[in-house]
Amino acid sequence: MNLQSFVDGKWVAGSGTGRTLFDPVLGTELERASSVGIDLGAALKYARDVGGPALRALSYGERAGLLTKIADVLMSKRETYFEIALANSGSPRSDAAIDIDGAIFTLKYYGRAAAALGNARYLVDGEMVKLGRDDLFQSLHIGVPLRGAAILVNAFNFPSWGLWEKAAPALISGMPILAKPATATCLLTQRMVCDVVRSGILPQGALSLLCGEARDLLDHVGPWDVVAFTGSADTAAQIRRHPSVVRHSTRLNIEADSLNCALLGPDATPGSAEFELLIREVAREMTQKAGQKCTAIRRVLLPRASLNAAAEAISAQLARTVVGNPRTESVRMGPVVSKDQQRSVNEGLNLLKQQTRVIFDGGPDFQPVDADPATSAFVPPTLLACDDAFAARAVHELEVFGPVATLVPYTDADQALEIARLSQGSLVTSIFSADADFSQRAAIELAASHGRVHCVSSAVGDAQTGHGNAMPMSLHGGPGRAGGGAELGGLRALRFYHQISAVQGARERVRELTAAGARWVP
Ligand code: NAP
Repeated sequence: MNLQSFVDGKWVAGSGTGRTLFDPVLGTELERASSVGIDLGAALKYARDVGGPALRALSYGERAGLLTKIADVLMSKRETYFEIALANSGSPRSDAAIDIDGAIFTLKYYGRAAAALGNARYLVDGEMVKLGRDDLFQSLHIGVPLRGAAILVNAFNFPSWGLWEKAAPALISGMPILAKPATATCLLTQRMVCDVVRSGILPQGALSLLCGEARDLLDHVGPWDVVAFTGSADTAAQIRRHPSVVRHSTRLNIEADSLNCALLGPDATPGSAEFELLIREVAREMTQKAGQKCTAIRRVLLPRASLNAAAEAISAQLARTVVGNPRTESVRMGPVVSKDQQRSVNEGLNLLKQQTRVIFDGGPDFQPVDADPATSAFVPPTLLACDDAFAARAVHELEVFGPVATLVPYTDADQALEIARLSQGSLVTSIFSADADFSQRAAIELAASHGRVHCVSSAVGDAQTGHGNAMPMSLHGGPGRAGGGAELGGLRALRFYHQISAVQGARERVRELTAAGARWVP
């Protein structure tokens, strides 16, 4: 039987042969998923009509409490989730922790943060302001939950965190969810939703799940629904121009491809603490989750004079990383999630190699430990370098979603910032520099093209949270190629699930409204 979806308050399996979910290490078939025969219009209607009113009947504080309980349920089943992540994504435990523990941490964070909103039913945005010459007639902006469903479409690389980092602000806002994980790795999402449904924490209709293809899902979106999408720029473009989305101006948040960079400051010469921190970070970002992170470092910008030293140091770290079957204790890096993904990474690499040279790729004898290369989906960590940042366009335009990064030399600070922007909008850039003036200048100049600027110096060497780590307190999303989206960033994330409306009226009425709502924090 195909993996079951949860719609209309019932578990149902789609019909037909469906798509196969594989173990990318062993090459074995795990499950099949199909959405054929599931009435997606009815599923959304049920979420809106049953889940929406039930959630909105609760205060923000009560809904925050639900998140904490969900986190507790997930926490109690953690070991099962690690096993599923190993089987369906080939994830070593430390990689799976980013997805599983990252989700629990994010839910707990939002549970705590939203508890401060207390018994309110709407949010107050800013202060009341007078509209005329006297102050009799005033205006106040309030945020109220949208009365539709939140359709959460996710990518294959974060089947756990991808769901819960979106679900947390949606549920706090009082919007029911329909989760649509990527089919290739939906086993983990399915099990988590199953556990949360069984726990009975959420009201009926608050949480639905679709396993298998999206099919006609978006045909049924309406004006009060929202679509929060994470995935490739190609799929994002299809969603943006979907006729129902266009007709109803359905609110969209897009988190898409990104060619993030790490930038070694002009001051940070080989041997400096910042140089060493950059080397460690690049090697970690390339190998963690086999480079399948939207925030992973794809481009390493460094002074031309430091390129060879960096190439040598990163290669040495990559050579020490044991790649293979994560069931073997010494293994640190697993496969990409599927044979399809392996093909896509190899095709992308071939294109990148036309404009770059190979610094490290494990050599012709690369062999994953305890795995059959014919049936498994491994890609060796691959470090490339280009000589002319402006000639090697593919380095800034082609996201190869695997353990791949390119060294890019620059001549001076101005040029470094120009090269960082060549990616046409990214999720994150990190600056490794002990020069406070340069870091500050780079942060301000790169903030317009990057959703997050992560500044590292030796003073924060061990305290910093990592280039690729999307913390719930900080914004996640980026302009341009990265999709133009905004997620997380504390309670800012609630904005997407609310309608902001200006209420104008007599001063006393507006003052009462101010008093009864919760202050939008910050
Ligand atoms: P994808 O192929 O674009 O798929 C993403 C999701 O969209 C999947 O759930 C997919 O379902 C669904 N989908 C496909 N066609 C659809 C349609 N017509 N209507 C509605 N949904 C549709 O991306 P992916 O290969 O899973 O993920 C890799 C990409 O995600 C990379 O480019 C990466 O950079 C990006 N990513 C970005 C972020 C970020 O935060 N910016 C985070 C993680 C990943 P099926 O699986 O059933 O086809």
